[in-house]
Amino acid sequence: MDTGQPASLCGRLLAAIGAIPIVDTHEHLEEEGNTSRLERSGWTLLLHYVQCDLVAAGVDGLALQRATAPGTAPEERWDALAPWWPAVSQGAYMRVLNRGLAALHGVPSLSRGNVAEVEARMRRTYATGAYQKALKDLANIEVSLVDPLEPDPRDQGPLAHRGLACDPTYFLCDYHERVTGDLANSHQRLARRLGREVGDLAAWKGALADDLARVAAWAPAIKCTLGYSRALDFEPVTEADAARLAARTIAGQPLAEAEHKALQDHFVDYLADLGAEHGLPLMFHTGLHAGGGNFLERTRLEPFTGLVRRHPRTRFDLFHIAYPNDRDAIVLAKYYGNVSLDFCWAWAFAPRDAEATLHACLDLLPVDKVCAFGGDYFHLEGALGHSLVAREGIARVLAERVERGWLTEEGALAVALTILHDGPARLFRTAEKLAAVRAARSARV
Ligand SMILES: [Zn+2]
Repeated sequence: MDTGQPASLCGRLLAAIGAIPIVDTHEHLEEEGNTSRLERSGWTLLLHYVQCDLVAAGVDGLALQRATAPGTAPEERWDALAPWWPAVSQGAYMRVLNRGLAALHGVPSLSRGNVAEVEARMRRTYATGAYQKALKDLANIEVSLVDPLEPDPRDQGPLAHRGLACDPTYFLCDYHERVTGDLANSHQRLARRLGREVGDLAAWKGALADDLARVAAWAPAIKCTLGYSRALDFEPVTEADAARLAARTIAGQPLAEAEHKALQDHFVDYLADLGAEHGLPLMFHTGLHAGGGNFLERTRLEPFTGLVRRHPRTRFDLFHIAYPNDRDAIVLAKYYGNVSLDFCWAWAFAPRDAEATLHACLDLLPVDKVCAFGGDYFHLEGALGHSLVAREGIARVLAERVERGWLTEEGALAVALTILHDGPARLFRTAEKLAAVRAARSARV
């Protein structure tokens, strides 16, 4: 709308930032047309992170179960959660959801009156391909690095890499190392996946190396989510010690907790070696956990320093700015050239704090070590809504720096281009990976 008034500095910056195509470092979106998760999870999908706020609000477990069970009428779901809506409706997660619903479906905010219509529209959206509209026309995302998270019915198991099934119009698929969580399980899955005996530690590591090598040309990164289940205190464990623990695991003998941790530590070191070998950054979950009920000590970042120091040739991308330990993350990235900070999810859970963190990053760090956006959403509405919130936050931060005389307007846009596009594109070699996926897909046809 042209009002004849000159746009404010922040408004001008926001308009120019809107034209920057984002390299989105993290999503959990399904491929276009794949509605299996939507069908399976219904409202769980729609609410996504709002559920974390419901948990924080003390939601009754049975009410939440009733609200998210498949086959329940949308209004019934709404009513089951009625006592908790006021507590969560002003939170950041609900704002992101509402921004996405407004932008994609023209629905101003979720309410009892429109919840049935919203569900119906989501369903239509996923089946009929609003990916172009949501991710390109509205969010202006060049490519999203995606962890599809759940096994797809077409997968051979949770370790399967979507690889060439991921449409490079929108996605590059991470290599998710699901080999170090429950080690006994992981060993069996890896052996099945490779279709061969994995009889000792050397064979186990060889299988992991081969599994990664199959997709290394297409994968932009190795994703590690161990930060959900343990502290980030990865310590060196000798080959001999790890071999003994691996032998017992393979023989089906249970390991004590400390032993399991030691074997995990050994595998994480090995993954870091593989990352260096293939030039694949390790995306590490650090900081805040989704879902509630976790342990604060697992959000701490100091113990991570050892792993970073042992692997100077491996790039580490710290997801979620290690919130609330974002200042520690900045210091780690300042001390070590191989550490980058990633704002994925951050503008959705703490938009005001993310602005402060971005200010600190721009003061303290080389600008190309900041990845400024990753949606981290299960649905288009979240990815889109989050991208709008992030662009606004970035525009506000940069406008303030221009007003202080620390940047010119032109310089501010150069920063925005680096943190939203050029920096992450270089870190994850997205142009090279996209070209490799396209070439392999067309050779297959
Ligand atoms: Zn995620």
